[in-house]
Amino acid sequence: VFKIRTDIEIAQNTELEPIEEIAKKMNITSNQLEYYGKYKAKINLKNKDLNKKVGKLILVTSINPTPAGEGKTTISVGLGDSLQHIGKKTAIALREPSLGPVFGMKGGAAGGGYAQVVPMEDLNLHFTGDMHAIGAANNLAAAMLDNHIQQGNQLNIDPRRITWKRAVDMNDRQLRNITSGLGGPTNGVPREDGFEITVASEIMAVLCLAESLVDLKERLSRCILGYTYEDEPITVGDIKAEGAMTVLLKDALKPNLVQTLEGTPTFIHGGPFANIAHGCNSVLATKTALSHADYVVTEGGFGADLGAEKFFDIKCRTSNLEPDAVVVVATIRALKMHGGLAKDDLHHEDLAALRSGFANLKKHVENMGKVFGMNTVVAINSFSADTPAENNLLSKLCEAEGFRVVLADIWSQGSAGGEEMARAVVEVCEEPSTLTYPYALEESIEAKITKVVQKIYGGVGVDWSPAATRSLHQLERLGFSDLPICMAKTQYSLSDNPTLLGQPKGFTVSVQDLTISAGAGFIVILTGDVLKMPGLPKKPAAENIDIDQNGKITGLF
Ligand code: ADP
Ligand code: MG
Repeated sequence: VFKIRTDIEIAQNTELEPIEEIAKKMNITSNQLEYYGKYKAKINLKNKDLNKKVGKLILVTSINPTPAGEGKTTISVGLGDSLQHIGKKTAIALREPSLGPVFGMKGGAAGGGYAQVVPMEDLNLHFTGDMHAIGAANNLAAAMLDNHIQQGNQLNIDPRRITWKRAVDMNDRQLRNITSGLGGPTNGVPREDGFEITVASEIMAVLCLAESLVDLKERLSRCILGYTYEDEPITVGDIKAEGAMTVLLKDALKPNLVQTLEGTPTFIHGGPFANIAHGCNSVLATKTALSHADYVVTEGGFGADLGAEKFFDIKCRTSNLEPDAVVVVATIRALKMHGGLAKDDLHHEDLAALRSGFANLKKHVENMGKVFGMNTVVAINSFSADTPAENNLLSKLCEAEGFRVVLADIWSQGSAGGEEMARAVVEVCEEPSTLTYPYALEESIEAKITKVVQKIYGGVGVDWSPAATRSLHQLERLGFSDLPICMAKTQYSLSDNPTLLGQPKGFTVSVQDLTISAGAGFIVILTGDVLKMPGLPKKPAAENIDIDQNGKITGLF
């Protein structure tokens, strides 16, 4: 009987190339490398002009996913390998996984099957220590803020209005809401406090958008920590923490280089949340990749309504990046779910459900073209339960709309299953395109939100809660109106209601509140409750993780 190997078994049975060999493929010399063991290195960015883009940039995004994920990372890795396989000088740029989900439910931010980034244990555990540095910088700001209050509070900070949280890289709901500073006058000023997971910290978003140490420092200094009794913002700059925080982050800012199972150079750097932040890897990693490879594959978190929109409106806008092609990943099982099929029936052939669920894919592909001006390839991420009739129907539906569509079987075959996809992407990269945006930065905050809701989601309008209206006026008063918006919305639907699958119509989006990430440089639009500190499930994945006397790890996916 054919035994399906787990991701970790496949990864552990692959011989890795020394990292300097991987770097050489991009003409990165060993004196630009800072080694973290044999298979990981940071790239030293000294004296390097990263704005000389040589490569073509390919964004991988997807339809609205099911809770299992539709394989954007897997397709990104597989596409990178396939491009390398057909002879193109390729690099991949992806997010770094957080520790939290590794011990919770869904880890594997490193792809899957025969399309993975390695060494996967390192990637999913401490890697090169960036996550630790981000947590330390975050917590330095918290410690200095509370110390300022303790030492006489010259800035008149209102302890009830502190918005900055402490951070730890662990799913630990116990720390969501706490009281700190207990124990009398020598032990601080008691106040309501809390932790968020490190990836949700604004520092992560700042690191991912910063283009140099100076830019990083300026952004950190603008981060808002809380408000005074007069309701004026208190920033990192006000408590003079930006210099020391930048020192803590000096190495974390350098992109990390690793490889895929097939030896394709892969930058794994930065991993901000895709709801309260923009959900893509660092600008520096993307630009480093683009200045060293002819084709660069990168991913935006969640579906195209969130991930791609924020990739364009936040990341591309602030850093002058512009993709040459967009790959929209779809799976037969998710489209059947969008077509009304129950979760437990997804492995049955159902052409009617597929036909009706296609509406979701159609809307996302149209958005990429009509709203953003991009040329696209639809990649069907092939699962073993998909039938030939289903694959045929989906291809026909795409072709009828004039969409380019390819079947990608890279999860079970590696690059051999992605040649057609790679060739289609190369072709699309040669076609001219110009990035256009759904809104202009000068428009009012309300207009920006309305435009995203109408043009991207296909909704009719926006409802404002009283809290959101109050925050809107506050942000306008503080002069933040010209920033891009960062929508925090469910990833499962084009609307803000996770149960409205397919292509919902006639809905309005309810804005609950707005918050400001002044250092990252965007306004977060909350359309529902967002947890910045996840919890562990009833049976945490950690229960199955183990290590033997030889140091061999089991159970990491
Ligand atoms: P996303 O980036 O869209 O969240 P991932 O690429 O991380 O999705 O994939 C989610 C999970 O699905 C991973 O565990 C991955 O190994 C698995 N997966 C992806 N593609 C396939 C496939 N074609 N067949 C089986 N499992 C897959
Ligand atoms: Mg992913």
